[in-house]
Amino acid sequence: MKNKQFNSVLIVGGGVCGLGIGWRLAQANRPTTVLEQREVGPNSLPAATWASAGMLAPHVEAEPGEERLLPLLLESHARWPAFTQELKEASGVDVGYRTEGTLVVALDRDQVERLRFQYEFQRKLGLELTWLSGDAARQREPHLSRNVIAALYSPHDHQVDNRQVLLALRQAFLAAGGTLREHASVAEILVEKGEAQGVRLISGEILHAPVVVVAAGAWSATLPGLPPEARPPVRPVKGQMLALQTPLDAPLLRHVVWGRDVYLVPRKDGRLLVGATVEEKGFDAQLTAGGVYTLLRRAWEILPGIDEAPIVEMWAGLRPGSRDDAPILGATPVKGLILATGHYRNGILLAPITADAISHLILTGETPESIRNFGIGRFHR
Ligand SMILES: Cc1cc2nc3c(=O)[nH]c(=O)nc-3n(C[C@H](O)[C@H](O)[C@H](O)COP(=O)(O)OP(=O)(O)OC[C@H]3O[C@@H](n4cnc5c(N)ncnc54)[C@H](O)[C@@H]3O)c2cc1C
Repeated sequence: MKNKQFNSVLIVGGGVCGLGIGWRLAQANRPTTVLEQREVGPNSLPAATWASAGMLAPHVEAEPGEERLLPLLLESHARWPAFTQELKEASGVDVGYRTEGTLVVALDRDQVERLRFQYEFQRKLGLELTWLSGDAARQREPHLSRNVIAALYSPHDHQVDNRQVLLALRQAFLAAGGTLREHASVAEILVEKGEAQGVRLISGEILHAPVVVVAAGAWSATLPGLPPEARPPVRPVKGQMLALQTPLDAPLLRHVVWGRDVYLVPRKDGRLLVGATVEEKGFDAQLTAGGVYTLLRRAWEILPGIDEAPIVEMWAGLRPGSRDDAPILGATPVKGLILATGHYRNGILLAPITADAISHLILTGETPESIRNFGIGRFHR
């Protein structure tokens, strides 16, 4: 028991980051406990992982100013096929990995100009994208509106069912021998003389461990006990989404489709996700008439065939946004205190590399090259 405590790891947060890291550690026989304040699954909302759209889209989402982040996104993207396979073998859960690719469509001259700028910028980065006429886009997706006058096709921007990923990770983590404690809310990170000691739960229970990982998503900066030099500058960024049901035998879309401030993601079970707003509202996760109306109007402009589709679900989630929109990964000035947070709108895409790199750091003491630029130190220079 003493031994177990001696090298055990506590992970705060049971989202894709916490469970992914936990899975890798449990596979390496490191005693690991994931502490989750709610439940892993539908009741974890407004946590980001359940709320997400599951796009693995580093190419069409590449924006000016994010060039430093791109290699990390691409490296994680390359790990997804093997990650999917391994996760399925470990959990028995199919995570719905789909490779039809992504279309970005333009409906008027302004949008074509913007798309042209995006296309040229992304091509300069060496990303593979094809410019399509409206008709060529409709050959790929016949239900697109006649008003679509141009599009980009990105063959390598894929998707996964993020909810299945979360359930698969939970299963794989448990099967590898990890301990999951749900309804275990961390009230304080315990730090003494510059070293992590463990955590105190809201119930008063104290858990000791020499390694504590903060993977608490949008809540990461609010954890009491974190000294200022180890407190990640993370804030919640609200995203509202909804799901429509489309016929399984006649899906309206096969590709993920992006328009102006909206995207449509077809799932294997006929659900068509429509997302997402980007709102700075603190920890408010209310659905609003304006948010849902705007998403539906924009989706309808691209895909009028959704008119009769039943709305089967609406929800809002909180993205963990860091000050520079890049994740915060790695050791802190507090010995044994590790951060894996701030993944903003790329946390599903970054799940494989986050799990691999942070578990490597914990198991070997070495920070992998791939995450060296993403430590908390960059905010204190
Ligand atoms: C609407 C929306 C759409 C998105 N679309 C995409 C997409 O298409 N592709 C993509 O790659 N990413 C997307 N993202 C982003 C992605 O979902 C997140 O970056 C990722 O899920 C973050 O995972 P996480 O584990 O860090 O956080 P979370 O999933 O939020 O998990 C953190 C967990 O910590 C728990 N926790 C917090 N405080 C405590 C405490 N004190 N004690 C115990 N537990 C605690 C929370 O309950 C929560 O379950 C989207 C996000 C949203 C909201």
